[in-house]
Amino acid sequence: MTSCPLCRKVIIMQSTGIVRKIDELGRIVLPQELRAKLDVGAKDGIEFYWQDNCLLLKKHEPACTFCGSADGIVLYEGKNICKVCREKITNLNET
Ligand SMILES: [Zn+2]
Repeated sequence: MTSCPLCRKVIIMQSTGIVRKIDELGRIVLPQELRAKLDVGAKDGIEFYWQDNCLLLKKHEPACTFCGSADGIVLYEGKNICKVCREKITNLNET
């Protein structure tokens, strides 16, 4: 069994049956049906992961600078901060 290097869930890799050629500048087009599955569009970020000679693509989601959570992210002074860490920071001022 294989587990996802990101979420640790057991996964069964499925071939999409799609093959694309790399152009002279090293680019490939991510097919529309895969963009839809990843819920990505123009200008969205894609993260690349490498494991066991396989390349994994994942939609880039902003994560909290402090804890890595992606829940309730707010950008402040150029840093992403989640709801829980904002509350913790707020409580620091009350003590
Ligand atoms: Zn956080």
